[in-house]
Amino acid sequence: MSSPTQVLARKWRPRCFSELTGQDHVVRALTNALEQKRLHHAYLFTGTRGIGKTTIARILAKAFNCQAGVTPEPCGICSACIEIDGGRFVDLIEVDAASNTQVEKMRELLENALYAPTVARYKVYIIDEVHMLSKSAFNAMLKTLEEPPEHVKFILATTDPQKIPVTVLSRCLQFNLKQIPFPLIVSHLRHVLEQEHINCDATSLQLLARAAQGSMRDALSILDQAIAFGEGKIEEASVRDMLGAVDQGYLLDLLEVLAQRDGARMLAIADAMETRSLSFDAALQDLATLLHRLALAQIVPAAIGDDEPERDRVFQLAKTFAPEDIQLFYQIAIHGREDLGRAPDEYAGFTMTLLRMLAFIPEDFLSGGGETGRDRGTSGSSPAKSGSGKYPSTLGQAQDSGQTETKGRTETKGSGRAEMEKEGRSREGRVARNDSTGDSRRSAGPVPDSPERDPRPEKPGSTEFFSHSWITIVGHLKVNGLTRMLAQYCEVKSFSEDEIEFCVPELHKHLLDKTYQDRLQAAIREYLGKPVRLKFSVGVVNGMSPAEQENREKQEKQSQAIAAIESDPFVRDLVENFDAKLIVSSIKPIQ
Ligand SMILES: [Zn+2]
Repeated sequence: MSSPTQVLARKWRPRCFSELTGQDHVVRALTNALEQKRLHHAYLFTGTRGIGKTTIARILAKAFNCQAGVTPEPCGICSACIEIDGGRFVDLIEVDAASNTQVEKMRELLENALYAPTVARYKVYIIDEVHMLSKSAFNAMLKTLEEPPEHVKFILATTDPQKIPVTVLSRCLQFNLKQIPFPLIVSHLRHVLEQEHINCDATSLQLLARAAQGSMRDALSILDQAIAFGEGKIEEASVRDMLGAVDQGYLLDLLEVLAQRDGARMLAIADAMETRSLSFDAALQDLATLLHRLALAQIVPAAIGDDEPERDRVFQLAKTFAPEDIQLFYQIAIHGREDLGRAPDEYAGFTMTLLRMLAFIPEDFLSGGGETGRDRGTSGSSPAKSGSGKYPSTLGQAQDSGQTETKGRTETKGSGRAEMEKEGRSREGRVARNDSTGDSRRSAGPVPDSPERDPRPEKPGSTEFFSHSWITIVGHLKVNGLTRMLAQYCEVKSFSEDEIEFCVPELHKHLLDKTYQDRLQAAIREYLGKPVRLKFSVGVVNGMSPAEQENREKQEKQSQAIAAIESDPFVRDLVENFDAKLIVSSIKPIQ
């Protein structure tokens, strides 16, 4: 099976400074120093993962060793350049400190440093994740740093500079790499797609770039993933599926009905989102992002690109709300997301956040559909009515006011049939859980049905953990992007009190990046409230991973929908008597 994954990240790895994106400040400093042949013996690159630390380190190694001489523009064609690019240059020693913490290995490496390079001008040591070295390993390194042999260059990289001893830090020339700004990621991805002759719509591009969270390496592997996922095509629907992203349409709808003060419709939208099992955590995050863009549209319209998805609606909403409203909603969204873990369940947390926004729309709010909304009688209780008529400017103040709380409750009662239904559902869930306590059959297999109905256990423990299915847990984990994908493709192989063993199918093994494994482990720990080790293997799976089960359900629904349409008398009549053709691919099951 030829998998295109990881190809792009490797293929598009910058090989010279001019190809680097988003680290101009570092490139400028290094270029100047190299031009003036001011070489230091130890460099330290810091910054979050996937932003180019080891890439810069390798270019720097070429700059030191290019046969054309020390230069900021290594030739790329001499044997040194080629071998460094190919990762087989004898005098470039790359160490991943995360796996080389023992002092003995470090000492051995550093003893070797004393010998002159075999072929190169400089023997270059790239030590990645250097903060992981043990204290004694650092001490061994310090000795070399204090009296470095002329022919040795150290290039250290870390995501966590605070864990590096000051004695070591003070001997390094330090560069802080920045997260790569969103627009730069978008334009780089666009460039790559053009070169690769792959079509991608603007919205998908934005979604992919946003999921990368400032990391170009992530951006390229997410892009690889999207290409594999969409079987060569990149389409918005499959990108959203892949990322578990919330359809922006829902959020724009929410803000529009908020402007109309229509609480009932707000809850209806939230219900629709719940039915689709969208992550409310991600929804609040995206809502905050959308509000940020609305604020930009109000104050710096030029900042909203022409290719912005739903550009017109964004500008329309920007006109509907006052800047203070947007600020307040933004704050409410952020706080709501923080509170999500403490909410009775995610649905309640999400809808409370929406209702809070509704409660804080000022009485004198006249623009948009404000007036009509009031007539619907869904929001007779604006707290802004009380006092000065000015709504509280910070959420903290608002929460302190007892009156506000009362109003909030009225609001929920007035418009929240769905809320009450939900409460009923939660009760069902609790009963079901009590039943299952003595039922060993339940704890054996996954319960694929409606994860959202299963409230999160108050004190999660291992038994309880597995009486809830892995699918349910995945629904609750605070992970996104590729980490969520990893979770979705994991099939539980075995578990014990403190260890879970997962199997991932061959096709998705590239998701087993250490970072995603670590993030998944952290999220599971957080969910369980106790330490747990994860083990991963690649192999044959039984189709029990959340992704595959979901996929099966989807296919079943799809074939049911097709069957229903095919057996429809009117459709049959059309086909039989009018030579009509059913376009099967256009059939979509009702959500
Ligand atoms: Zn060269």
